[in-house]
Amino acid sequence: MLKINNSLKLAGGILALSVVAGYSCSSGEKPNSKKPNIIVLLVDDAGYADFGFMGSADLKTPNIDKLAAGGVIFTDAHVSATVCGPSRAGIMTGRYQQRFGFECNPSSDSCGVDMNELTIASALKKEGYATAAFGKWHLGDQPGYRPNERGFDYYWGFLSGSRSYFYDGQKSDKQGDPHAITENFNQVSFEGYLTDRLGDRAVDFIEKNKDNPFFIYWAPNAVHTPMEAKTEDLALFDGHPRQKLAAMTWALDRAVGNIVEKLKKEGLLENTLIFFLSDNGGAANNQSTNFPLKGFKGNKFEGGHRVPFFVTWASEIKGGETFKGLTSSLDIYSTALHAANEKNLHGKNLDGVSLIPYLTGKKQGDPHQKLFWRKDKMAAARVGDHKLIRVEKLPSVLYKLSDDLGETGNLASKDPEHLQLLNSELKNWEKETIAPLWTEGVQWDTITWMIHQDLMLNRKVRANDPGQFKKDKMNGR
Ligand code: CA
Repeated sequence: MLKINNSLKLAGGILALSVVAGYSCSSGEKPNSKKPNIIVLLVDDAGYADFGFMGSADLKTPNIDKLAAGGVIFTDAHVSATVCGPSRAGIMTGRYQQRFGFECNPSSDSCGVDMNELTIASALKKEGYATAAFGKWHLGDQPGYRPNERGFDYYWGFLSGSRSYFYDGQKSDKQGDPHAITENFNQVSFEGYLTDRLGDRAVDFIEKNKDNPFFIYWAPNAVHTPMEAKTEDLALFDGHPRQKLAAMTWALDRAVGNIVEKLKKEGLLENTLIFFLSDNGGAANNQSTNFPLKGFKGNKFEGGHRVPFFVTWASEIKGGETFKGLTSSLDIYSTALHAANEKNLHGKNLDGVSLIPYLTGKKQGDPHQKLFWRKDKMAAARVGDHKLIRVEKLPSVLYKLSDDLGETGNLASKDPEHLQLLNSELKNWEKETIAPLWTEGVQWDTITWMIHQDLMLNRKVRANDPGQFKKDKMNGR
């Protein structure tokens, strides 16, 4: 899949990775010393099927689709958690977040990503990158854990897990509120629609850093609740059954389009490595759809953690391809570091692998043979085609995804060998983890347990959040 140029043909396959990594070698060829820019476009709670490139017929994402068409679309890519905070902790460190206790969503008084972890931003800074984060952080809002203290030169966004898409001095933007927008450490106001402004700030950063390699972690809250859109965007989808989501997605697509347009204008798009993904599956409360997957944000079915995912790097990766190998969001870290400098993989015991050999055709098959998930009392394991979901106090379920992507045919009693194998793999992995440093409280814990029970039995879920279920009924599990 690599576009072979003359120098590569002369030097043969071993040189290929060196050139991909933007580094010279001893062959005497002219060095390609320009490191690629790296951008992670991390959207929030987007449904598996809610982009044109994933087959959506009713949500319009022309700019994202065009970008995807120039890259490689992954069909079996997974985030390391089915909720926002821990999924981001995995991406930020390239390691299973359970290794350092960031297993559940943090609250305002939780810590953030363990201080001993080297973030992707810190690692890329060591490689000479200018680094910036935009949008939602959700990785700790206490001093020491904030973006500028974890490797980002520049930050424009909010520290908490969600907020209004409009400036609201009475609520999200109250002085000192963790939902408020800050530029680095300074609270700022903004005009108009937040997704638009997040796109603008990224464009500004590219303008200021266009002469040096940069890393952008662009993490809009779109399309997380609250379901708020601009009046003019809503008007475009008047009568649409998912009007608000369609309008929010349209704004998201516009912002991505503006970022890509800026890269093009500056002649940077060719040598920019871009990842696009959602931080978890579509949520039950934002009109999203994960079809044909079962489940949604917060649970261990495919709809919770198999996400839309593509990678582009026009100068090195042939576009228009699909990659079917088992892939993790933890691979973003390793891939980015490999692209920045293949000789110096910072960080310790990374759980991800570089995807570059797979993207260039040097390697075939699955980047991972196994993947694991755990949040408090719910866990899952993937080994080859098989998937295990284990929930405290319930019989585990087993599926064979190649035959049953929708996870309806529980094989636990028919295939005890795989049941035992996956249980054993999960337990072995858990030996390398620690207990969660915080949990999400009894209400979410109970609702999440009930959702798993319902989905494991292929029945309609009783409630999606604590507000749907009276507290006095929640003790009978
Ligand atoms: Ca999310």
